[in-house]
Amino acid sequence: MDLEIDYKSCAGHGVCFMQAQELFDCDDEGRGVVIEPTVPDALLETAREAAGGCPEQAVLLLERSS
Ligand code: SF4
Repeated sequence: MDLEIDYKSCAGHGVCFMQAQELFDCDDEGRGVVIEPTVPDALLETAREAAGGCPEQAVLLLERSS
């Protein structure tokens, strides 16, 4: 799975990087930054929880096209 943030929707609530520090950092404006764009299998559940926890639905989990 690939992990992205939709910056048109992200409002900087910070839930993603507080909830999943293995997957996200934050920028100077308090918006999430993906640090694991290709989610390791061991962190898939964490990534799903982060996607479900973002108040703006800005955390996107995408099936990788091969
Ligand atoms: S939780 Fe959602 S809105 Fe908040 S910083 Fe992360 S991606 Fe942006």
